[in-house]
Amino acid sequence: MSSKNCITAPSRSFTFSYKAHQIVHAPYIIVENLRMGKIQEDYFVAQWYTETDEFQKFLSNNQNQQPALVKSISNPSKNTLQMPTRTYVPFEDESILFKILNIDPRNTDESIAFYNEYGPLDQMSSLSNITPTNRCSNMEGILESRNFFINSVIEIKTIVDGFFILEDIKAGAIFTETEQFELLEHYNPSYWQPRREYLNTRFEDIIQMIIVRTLSSNLKSVSPFAELDKDGNFYPGYISTNLLGAIWLQIYNLVTRIPGKQVFKECLFCGKKFASTSSRQKFCPEYSDIPVKNTPCANRYSAMQNRARKWYRGGLKTIDEIAEQLNRPVPEVKLWLKLD
Ligand SMILES: [Zn+2]
Repeated sequence: MSSKNCITAPSRSFTFSYKAHQIVHAPYIIVENLRMGKIQEDYFVAQWYTETDEFQKFLSNNQNQQPALVKSISNPSKNTLQMPTRTYVPFEDESILFKILNIDPRNTDESIAFYNEYGPLDQMSSLSNITPTNRCSNMEGILESRNFFINSVIEIKTIVDGFFILEDIKAGAIFTETEQFELLEHYNPSYWQPRREYLNTRFEDIIQMIIVRTLSSNLKSVSPFAELDKDGNFYPGYISTNLLGAIWLQIYNLVTRIPGKQVFKECLFCGKKFASTSSRQKFCPEYSDIPVKNTPCANRYSAMQNRARKWYRGGLKTIDEIAEQLNRPVPEVKLWLKLD
């Protein structure tokens, strides 16, 4: 096999300059029941890789019996693309965390769309899963376990939820025993079950401990890095060996509230969580290439306000009726009508 046919991976130095790029090799597909060692599971695979001899060799080396390829995206043409379809700087991309928090990780289309836009969560480990065949030392396919993706997304979501639970408790919210137990069941039991036996451990202490532990174990792939600006001055930065580390660093920045960095917010209209540096931003952002004046949530919220004003001024509904119909708290409705 000539080296031309090898799937060329980024050079080794890429590992150490991860900060600069996440490389996306879209389109991705899901290959079902791929066997890695003893475990058989579903994988996200960069589609061009499935069409290579290396992938066939990989399958036979891993004693797989004809995996099913799930193509959730329409890309009929045989794709021999080996060049990245996109590169970006994960530490600077605000949309990743928002997408992760709002994705259903078990949904095939949503997760493939995530891979097509952001690439694998742990590109380096997915590369090293494949033993390159001798002559073709640069051969590296890209595949990532679907279970790994699902578990990673769930872990991120539950930790962010935990942060909001703590905020609610600080604001006076009280959770019943049953509610506490139901919430804790979403977390990795190894984190909270031993503590649960200490009867007097407060719920918020358990949540705090889970957040601290999960954050620190996920930040291990991140390290401080002296960056250089264009004038040759050093400034503090971070590198990560994988995308997941960059995502966890964003969460770390959010929960530790580093001055000047983003804070977590909940959209006033739909309640989705997002990160923002602006104190004025009240609605979830619209991450698109085309700049929008008002996001869909902002538009829907103001339409709702207008409807409420029309109902009230036309004498069609009382404030309580409006609040109930629109499913908003009465004080908020009063604020719209300037009645407080
Ligand atoms: Zn929203």
